[in-house]
Amino acid sequence: KRVSREFRHGEPSVIEIPTPNGTVTIGETCPIVMVAGPCSVENQEMIVDTAQRVKAAGAAFLRGGAYKPRTSPYAFQGHGESALELLAEARRVSGLGIITEVMDTADLDRLAEVADVVQIGARNMQNFALLKQVGAQSKPVLLKRGMAATLEEWLMAAEYILAAGNPNVILCERGIRTFDRQYTRNTLDLSVIPVLRSLTHLPIMIDPSHGTGWASLVPSMAKAAIAAGTDALMIEVHPNPTKALSDGPQSLTPDQFTQLTQDLATVGEAI
Ligand code: PEP
Ligand code: MN
Repeated sequence: KRVSREFRHGEPSVIEIPTPNGTVTIGETCPIVMVAGPCSVENQEMIVDTAQRVKAAGAAFLRGGAYKPRTSPYAFQGHGESALELLAEARRVSGLGIITEVMDTADLDRLAEVADVVQIGARNMQNFALLKQVGAQSKPVLLKRGMAATLEEWLMAAEYILAAGNPNVILCERGIRTFDRQYTRNTLDLSVIPVLRSLTHLPIMIDPSHGTGWASLVPSMAKAAIAAGTDALMIEVHPNPTKALSDGPQSLTPDQFTQLTQDLATVGEAI
């Protein structure tokens, strides 16, 4: 299989992603890449402010959803195409690369004009039409693990993208559904890091924000992910988490994110 470690004779994939601030490389042999930003793009001021703050703290990519997969049809669904324009503006102002989720094949062309990396969310991990279509375009793909997906299912979803012609896939663990949702939204499965290393050459990202559901749990899980050898981290950051239109409880403030990046540098040196 194309995703397998043997396919590249044991060599890890290094994905080179051009951004206005320069080429960012993600892979086993590269420095850890930080992706940060709000769950949803809410307005121009908040996305541009957040971009500038997370860039100053060392992030290479700004994340933010224009199209949001929400449990309730009455919850905020994202601003759609107008949010893509705001992401383009934040990209221009900050120079950060943009990572944003595509939910519908009909939106992909427009979204890929703005996104430097196209995200497939957990709920669409096995949306095969979407996988084939992101595989047939040239932007790198961030493939989130389905909330109840086995590693085999996740890797085979990545295989769809590679088989369709796009070798640039990053695997993102974002927590799986277990029985206790009282203290954690999901169970962040950090054991996938060494397992994926042995199975695949693809780069690994860890998302402790969706993985835990609580801002207070994010720093320790981010440190643990680095200790376990992740290639990248995705952290939700919002200028005012209590007012966020989605995922406020798990979002760090820009100040907390800045502190975290400083603490993570120490962890990186210690291992
Ligand atoms: C997100 O990144 O905002 C998101 C919806 O994540 P997931 O697909 O992992 O739930
Ligand atoms: Mn979110």
